[in-house]
Amino acid sequence: MEYISELKKKILSRDKSEPEFIQATSEVLDSLSLVLNDHPEYIKSGVVERLIEPERQIIFRVPWVDDAGIVRVNRGYRVEFNSAIGPYKGGLRFHSSVNLGIIKFLGFEQVFKNALTGLPMGGGKGGSDFDPHGKSDGEIMRFCQSFMSELYRHIGQFKDVPAGDIGVGAREIGFLFGQYKRLANEYSGVLTGKGLSYGGSLLRTEATGYGLLYFLKAMCDDHGFDLKDRIAIISGSGNVAIYAAYKAKELGLRVVAMSDSSGYIYDPQGLDIDLIKEIKEVKRERIKTYLDTYKDVQYHEGSKDIWKIKCDVALPCATQNEMDLEDAKELVLNGVKAVCEGANMPLSNEAANYLVRSRVLYGPAKAANAGGVAVSGLEMSQNSLRLSWDKDEVDLKLQSIMNNIYQNVSKTAQKYGDGDNLIIGANIAGFLKVAEAMRLQGVV
Ligand code: NDP
Repeated sequence: MEYISELKKKILSRDKSEPEFIQATSEVLDSLSLVLNDHPEYIKSGVVERLIEPERQIIFRVPWVDDAGIVRVNRGYRVEFNSAIGPYKGGLRFHSSVNLGIIKFLGFEQVFKNALTGLPMGGGKGGSDFDPHGKSDGEIMRFCQSFMSELYRHIGQFKDVPAGDIGVGAREIGFLFGQYKRLANEYSGVLTGKGLSYGGSLLRTEATGYGLLYFLKAMCDDHGFDLKDRIAIISGSGNVAIYAAYKAKELGLRVVAMSDSSGYIYDPQGLDIDLIKEIKEVKRERIKTYLDTYKDVQYHEGSKDIWKIKCDVALPCATQNEMDLEDAKELVLNGVKAVCEGANMPLSNEAANYLVRSRVLYGPAKAANAGGVAVSGLEMSQNSLRLSWDKDEVDLKLQSIMNNIYQNVSKTAQKYGDGDNLIIGANIAGFLKVAEAMRLQGVV
């Protein structure tokens, strides 16, 4: 479609230094060419042009003092991408690789993901190139306080509600919330992923990983593929990966390999997830130290080769572009049946399309990892109601949301493309919801 090609060219020339943003928008725009012929009103009202441009991009200095008394300066970001269906909502990432293009791609994807949850949340994302590895608790706290000293004026429970992402877990959310409360002089649900003692929701920590497995199960059940006794590999060993691994085990899968950014561990008998949680969440050590307890387990330096392990189910839960076309080919050669994305955009577009063409059951991130933000939405509801729901109630809501997302993207895929292509299903289902809200609100 000519209109879509022109928009792609525009992004290529205007955002040329942002490869991840180009990748994320290009995937969505390709899907939209299938739906826009039926909806000329969205072309007329410039919905797509407006969707690919963030409403607001905030970049700020984050000065802080390290334990040696030396002044450090990082760069902070908040990209408020789209507020057509609710306040901006999306995590904060602290990682040395963070730049504007990465935050923009994450914010763009978040718009569609949040729409798929069925909850009233717009899309945004933020973070910093601050690297939390090896920093003391005091340094983390001072950094978070400085970061929030600028961010607080841009956010609010009805404006923009950040959460965690890579490098931002319960500890960081606590420091960020404390500083927000102090500066704004207000106790509100301005952040999600909060501790249970100060307004957090039960199951938020587990939500992305659990939700991923609920989505996987819905997809596999629909295709008559039983997960019991299947072999799974999961990349990463952070928040998403750990709770995906727990739920995978509960559903009868055997998790044989997991990784961190240094390397991966492999045990054909199945891994001890409690120990991995202890190493990564509590001790904050390298995954390699797993071998201090299980001496016969294999450790391989470098995380990339994890996809060479034979498995039935692969769950990339670490970071963007961690699986390329060669990895996808290797997985297919080894008989993989299902791949579900826990991380955001962990597959290159070529790898994802190859899996779909190879008839692998493939759950794209926008749909499959929406459980985290869905429970964040439930945390916002509980904060507004001044109530907290018990774990079973949140879990039932999460299961129902993930099943609905699967049904919605699967039906949309059948309507607009090839029945099993959930990339198309997720992009179009998310788009239709946001596009209609944008059209009705006029050119803003
Ligand atoms: P964490 O910081 O908790 O964990 C990230 C994990 O990935 C760490 O184990 C890290 O290792 C590992 N890792 C990073 N880069 C690589 C790599 N190249 N190869 C292998 N492992 C790597 O982050 P989250 O678990 O929260 O986030 C993971 C992904 O899930 C991200 O893409 C995020 O955007 C996405 N996501 C997260 C949600 C959430 O609720 N937290 C919600 C939806 C999506 P190391 O310890 O060495 O740094």
